[in-house]
Amino acid sequence: MTGWLVIAGLGPGDNALVTPEVTVALAAATDVVGYVPYVARIAPREGLTQHASDNRQELSRARQALDMAAAGRRVVVVSSGDPGVFAMASAVFEALEQVPELQALDIRVLPGITAMLAAAARAGAPLGHDFCAINLSDNLKPWPLVESRLRLAAQADFAMALYNPRSASRPHQFARALEILRQACSGSRLITFAHGVTAPDERIETVTLANARPEMANMRTVVLVGNSTTRRVGRFVYTSRRSE
Ligand code: SAH
Repeated sequence: MTGWLVIAGLGPGDNALVTPEVTVALAAATDVVGYVPYVARIAPREGLTQHASDNRQELSRARQALDMAAAGRRVVVVSSGDPGVFAMASAVFEALEQVPELQALDIRVLPGITAMLAAAARAGAPLGHDFCAINLSDNLKPWPLVESRLRLAAQADFAMALYNPRSASRPHQFARALEILRQACSGSRLITFAHGVTAPDERIETVTLANARPEMANMRTVVLVGNSTTRRVGRFVYTSRRSE
């Protein structure tokens, strides 16, 4: 048997947003590897072994997946959203750098619908012009770098998608992020808090920067910050395709 490794994105939550090619890969897999809640989204079946692990074990999980594929297993590593956006694809390649003898393995990355795109579609088109995505977690980078990227993105008038905005272990940093945005943008700037997009408890709320409060975000929220042209039209929010 020839092993392979697929790194797949499961989309934001709703199974209707899992792509057909990811469904095909999962149907052919012998092993699925990932963070507990993502592996839980895969229906158990005979012949499929589930390897669920803690969120902080990305590198060892990646190495385990590579080793299983090298041993002839058909392995799917799952992430939520897109696997290349703050997720497992980079972790697998980081692990692969350390084991050159596995670099000839059959490895494919299958895209998924990332949270910011699902959230933007719900809101209207808040990312309709130039935008950037920033992970607010300082687990893998120093906090001053997060602050500087936020400040520079605001100065460049990018719309922004902020991932991992706030967690119990970092309760104050999102308040600081809002402070930085307030220094660079007008209080009327529109901000969309998109919580649990496509999940049963989905909540999408758009407020002005002046009215944004840190507790509006948690770890299941992606925060979309408009640029200076972002405005409301009816119940939607959109960003003009033109800049002055
Ligand atoms: N690879 C994922 C992102 C993983 S980082 C993707 O492409 O979407 C985890 C962060 O993603 C969360 O803290 C949150 O900011 C965002 N996120 C993931 N799923 C979400 C959803 N259904 N609704 C809102 N935000 C989500």
